[in-house]
Amino acid sequence: MTDVIVVGGGASGIIASIIAARQGAKVLVLERLSRIGKKLLVTGNGRCNLSNTQINLSCYHTTSNSDFSYPLQKINYEMIRDFFEELGVPVLIEENKVYPFSEQASSVLEVLRMEMNRLKIDIQTEMKVVDVFLKKGLWYLSTENGITYHAPKVVFATGGMANASFGCDQTGYHILKKLGHTIAPMFPTLVHVLSPSIYCKMMKGTKIKCDAAAYVEDNLIRKEYGEVLFTEDGLSGPPIFQLSRIAAKANLEKKRGCIVLDLMPNLSYDEVISTIYSRIARHPMRTVEELFIGWIHKRIVVPIIKYSKIESMHLPAEDLEHHHIEQLAKTIKEFIFETEGTRGYKYAQATAGGILLSEIDLKSMASKKAKGIYITGEVLDLDGDCGGYNLQWAWSTGYLAGLHAAQENEEAL
Ligand SMILES: Cc1cc2nc3c(=O)[nH]c(=O)nc-3n(C[C@H](O)[C@H](O)[C@H](O)COP(=O)(O)OP(=O)(O)OC[C@H]3O[C@@H](n4cnc5c(N)ncnc54)[C@H](O)[C@@H]3O)c2cc1C
Repeated sequence: MTDVIVVGGGASGIIASIIAARQGAKVLVLERLSRIGKKLLVTGNGRCNLSNTQINLSCYHTTSNSDFSYPLQKINYEMIRDFFEELGVPVLIEENKVYPFSEQASSVLEVLRMEMNRLKIDIQTEMKVVDVFLKKGLWYLSTENGITYHAPKVVFATGGMANASFGCDQTGYHILKKLGHTIAPMFPTLVHVLSPSIYCKMMKGTKIKCDAAAYVEDNLIRKEYGEVLFTEDGLSGPPIFQLSRIAAKANLEKKRGCIVLDLMPNLSYDEVISTIYSRIARHPMRTVEELFIGWIHKRIVVPIIKYSKIESMHLPAEDLEHHHIEQLAKTIKEFIFETEGTRGYKYAQATAGGILLSEIDLKSMASKKAKGIYITGEVLDLDGDCGGYNLQWAWSTGYLAGLHAAQENEEAL
């Protein structure tokens, strides 16, 4: 008889199945897609940023007040690094981000699959679990194909809503809700931010290294530095991904959100003004547009001038009045882009919200609502920043669930 059924063959479900099988449990994985680990293949742009050497709790977000540190500290980065090294994947570290040495996400999946085969884990693909019920101490799982499986322990690792082409849908949430769990409001995160600003379209395709700050109702929430990409409908790039959670939440709560770019973070407002004056002094006959060439990316010069409400690009720079120069400096230091949410789950890397952490025993990942049920990974109300944090959460929680689900004695660690 099967001891543990794992629903969902993503990062979290795969590690849960391996750890459970290593404890001697007979494990079955049910995956709705034709293959397990499809999403893993696209992580980190195909390189799989599988963890981070600095797993700071401040890089994680949850809507509940629960202390979520236990899984991340118990099954920490070093344990996950050793786990992969033992499987044959040494790691490569780039600015704290951890990748497989091969720089191929496919190699991470391959070694996991080899280990699953070695442990004789039964993998059933194209097996979407649609319902669950308890009978005589066993959990019965019905699939869309009409097949029913049962086991005393079930790990739900059904993932979030991000990027449906990799298997995510709402079934996992529906089933867990039926089991008595509460779902904190969900929204996409790590995704392009939408802005109605006409300047996005004007600067489309341009990348600028700058400070990006997210505001909600005029309150600064978070600031990031990095390369911002302007797109047809908004803003993208690593700093914007980090801020997207704030933009998405503001939109959900119908609050006014905006992202403010500081295009010259190394200069103060006064220094920008004096730089403009010294450029005018050196080249008084250049037009306002020409004044910035060589100092600021050409594609954003016209938007800066227009945003600063300077009527003519062709005005000789020496004719600029002091209030014009102040306005130009203000734009350079505070170019405001109102936000209108994000491009949504289709483009997102993660889901914020989900099953409340307070309903889970975070030492074992066991549900407090349904005995014998364990819940792991992105389906839970926790999301991390870009940088390997989400996969670390998936590994840590999956590992704990596998360990505890396989052992009757819950003092497994
Ligand atoms: C494009 C992209 C790039 C990313 N890059 C990174 C990165 O570099 N580093 C990082 O840390 N994070 C990254 N992430 C986020 C990370 O991939 C996820 O947080 C992580 O995979 C979550 O693991 P999981 O096992 O909880 O869920 P998933 O990996 O989503 O796995 C869930 C699995 O459950 C299956 N499933 C769902 N419902 C059912 C059902 N009812 N029955 C049976 N099976 C079901 C799904 O098909 C899927 O295979 C990225 C995400 C995306 C979309």
